[in-house]
Amino acid sequence: MRSLGDRTVDLLVIGGGIIGAGIARDAARRGLSVALIEQADLASGTSSRPTRLIHGGLRYLELFDFGLVRSDMKEREILLRIAPHLVFSLAFLLPLYRPSVIYRAKLRIGMLLYDLLSLDKSLPKREWLGRDEARTAEPGLAPNGLAGAWRFYDAQVPLVERLVVENALDAASHGALILNHARAIGYLRDGDRVVGARARDAIGGGELAVRARYTVNATGAWLDETIAPLRPAAKPLLRLTKGIHLVTPRATEQAHVLFAKRDGRLFFVVPWREYTIVGTTDTDYDADPGAADATEDDVRYLQAEARAAFPEAPFEVIHFTWAGIRALVRVEGVAEGEVSRKHALYDHERRDGTAGVLSVIGGKITAYRAIAEEVADRVARALGAAGRGDTERALLPGAGAPIGDRAAALGLPPPVIANLTTVYGSIGAAVLDLVASDPSLAEPLCPHEPTIAAELAYVIRDEWAVTLGDALLRRTGLGLRPCQALECVDAIADRMGALQGWDSARRAAEAAAYRRELAPMRAFSSA
Ligand SMILES: Cc1cc2nc3c(=O)[nH]c(=O)nc-3n(C[C@H](O)[C@H](O)[C@H](O)COP(=O)(O)OP(=O)(O)OC[C@H]3O[C@@H](n4cnc5c(N)ncnc54)[C@H](O)[C@@H]3O)c2cc1C
Repeated sequence: MRSLGDRTVDLLVIGGGIIGAGIARDAARRGLSVALIEQADLASGTSSRPTRLIHGGLRYLELFDFGLVRSDMKEREILLRIAPHLVFSLAFLLPLYRPSVIYRAKLRIGMLLYDLLSLDKSLPKREWLGRDEARTAEPGLAPNGLAGAWRFYDAQVPLVERLVVENALDAASHGALILNHARAIGYLRDGDRVVGARARDAIGGGELAVRARYTVNATGAWLDETIAPLRPAAKPLLRLTKGIHLVTPRATEQAHVLFAKRDGRLFFVVPWREYTIVGTTDTDYDADPGAADATEDDVRYLQAEARAAFPEAPFEVIHFTWAGIRALVRVEGVAEGEVSRKHALYDHERRDGTAGVLSVIGGKITAYRAIAEEVADRVARALGAAGRGDTERALLPGAGAPIGDRAAALGLPPPVIANLTTVYGSIGAAVLDLVASDPSLAEPLCPHEPTIAAELAYVIRDEWAVTLGDALLRRTGLGLRPCQALECVDAIADRMGALQGWDSARRAAEAAAYRRELAPMRAFSSA
């Protein structure tokens, strides 16, 4: 059984999404002792299901959320700097069809504002492309009525799962204890004060008591459930909305911001790895956030809209889908798409008279670092701790020296080297150490994919991967290929079983659990 013994940490973070991992990192780096508990796996919640953009969000200009756009653009710059191996600039086209004079003027002002709110940015400025230039940039754009397109720049985090894991890795390297597969089931109390939480430990078995001077609840879409014991019978704090994405063969050259013909909603078609993401939808949701999936209506809506924009593109082929649940600050009487994406902090002492605990409501991936800093500032103040946050400058662990030369010297083929670099950045050096000590670990896990056996060994040893889903979907990226490693999953379960001491029944059970985990993603798969 995993145990903290009698130790009391300064901060317990509940929830291992990007917000929880970011808070753990910030707090650990400023010298606080930290524990993080996550009911399933790091990034298994909404943080592995976004559109994967690091952006101010053009759409929020329409909501006059200038402050949010400004601070998100500042964060975009910071993330490009501290995680250059995970966050990349991305050019978008916003095509205009038979635009009215007013619409044209409105968009021009929007583009101007988007630039003005990020004057200090490193990304290129927007530019207008006439009809022919737009068609040259994206030959597949539907031609009828095309007037031209705005080109502007934002950023993408293709492997957002790794951003979460790297935050946790950095937290751990500053002393934080990371416990995934440990679900908080109740709070520890001392009078009106929360002094930690009890967790059910799915790995060690039994219950863990994590004593803490301060507790932060960062459980995203699960927040109303996890804070219910602190504010019984109170109104929900969250409004949940679902958004789905399709992953299709590569369909366009560029990333695009488009407006749906059916309802005028904004959606994206974005190159992602060697494929394309189409997303997203925005519909109210009131079931278990862990059970969200794409419906027939969701899928047909996105397919039809994408096809209208790019008539020849292969949107009929779907590799897989994912559905995420937005946890928005609850506002009554407003349409789904108009609820602000700004986060809020819920101070239980001020609101409910319970000290020692704070909850985070809402927030975007883009804003995670700033939210984490704000929370860690509050916690440090409450604990009288002196350290200051440094995450605006401190590089994430994989942002170090490139590993390509050493990987080539070990005889790894170029696709493997490229994959190691893309997935791990400089942390890939630890994978290379394993290959150097046992060259048989250079073998691929699946014959047609570049992921190698050493990665499995590494993510189990150093990155808290326990299940096949942890390793394939949220660490190595192999499960985010069209095949999702389904053909090789039994062999991978054998390898993983050998490393973790699983008998043959356990290996079969783990492979079956992986297939079950993928089932919602594959309900519309063409293969
Ligand atoms: C469709 C969609 C598209 C999006 N696109 C973008 C985008 O392009 N760019 C962007 O910046 N943002 C985007 N977002 C927003 C972004 O994904 C979320 O704001 C962010 O991932 C929230 O992170 P989180 O850590 O709060 O939540 P989560 O990632 O859900 O983490 C919460 C964690 O808490 C855990 N948990 C729950 N209960 C317990 C418990 N009892 N004990 C322990 N752990 C528990 C869960 O398992 C979960 O892992 C999008 C969101 C959606 C839904």
